[in-house]
Amino acid sequence: MEERLLQLARATPGFMPDDEGLALYRAGREAAPLGPLLEVGTYVGKSTIYLGAAAKEMGTVLFTIDHHRGSEEQQPGQPYFDPRFVDEFGQVDTLPAFRRTIALAGLEETVIAIVGRSATVAAYWRTPLAMVFIDGSHTEENAQADYEGWAPHVIMGGLLAIHDVFPDPSQGGQAPYHVYLRALASGAFEDYLCQGSLRVLRRVGHGI
Ligand code: SAH
Ligand code: MG
Repeated sequence: MEERLLQLARATPGFMPDDEGLALYRAGREAAPLGPLLEVGTYVGKSTIYLGAAAKEMGTVLFTIDHHRGSEEQQPGQPYFDPRFVDEFGQVDTLPAFRRTIALAGLEETVIAIVGRSATVAAYWRTPLAMVFIDGSHTEENAQADYEGWAPHVIMGGLLAIHDVFPDPSQGGQAPYHVYLRALASGAFEDYLCQGSLRVLRRVGHGI
């Protein structure tokens, strides 16, 4: 990956360790010949740089979805609240900072931001996707809804990536791990790569 973008990704606020970001970049490049990429959970655009770099190099685009109002644990008073990302009404707002990230990265022609709730966008989505990266809300209900809404859009041979997969409950919340197990149990996906808490699966069958 281009050194300038790597430095920018490292300096961008967010929740994507470098080794996992680079694995995401490699997976994005692998999938990109099949079609566009899509991310759920943009935040300030840290993971978006890794996937966007892959999309740009391979001549495709990356859609990235977020309501930009923060996850449950990013609200005022919660452990991952960041006072830099609040609007004039006191609500979480990561959209201006995200926009700055993508401009600095030179990825404005590659990365297409969709501002809205993941399940709502999924209900209207019709375009087959080469790769879907799920990193939105980590409540059981929302994580399962992201799988149900987006996994069917991954084309055969395409990739489904899930972040924050912790098989050991003492390491983190279990919803993404449950989604990962569900994807494997469906028979529609098989393991492709694993890096830290990132799991990438390949679509090999029907019956999501
Ligand atoms: N991928 C980011 C981290 C994402 S944090 C990184 O690399 O740093 C999770 C994000 O998901 C938050 O920005 C939050 O606003 C968003 N989110 C949570 N629930 C959502 C939902 N139902 N629809 C859309 N976005 C959601
Ligand atoms: Mg994450």
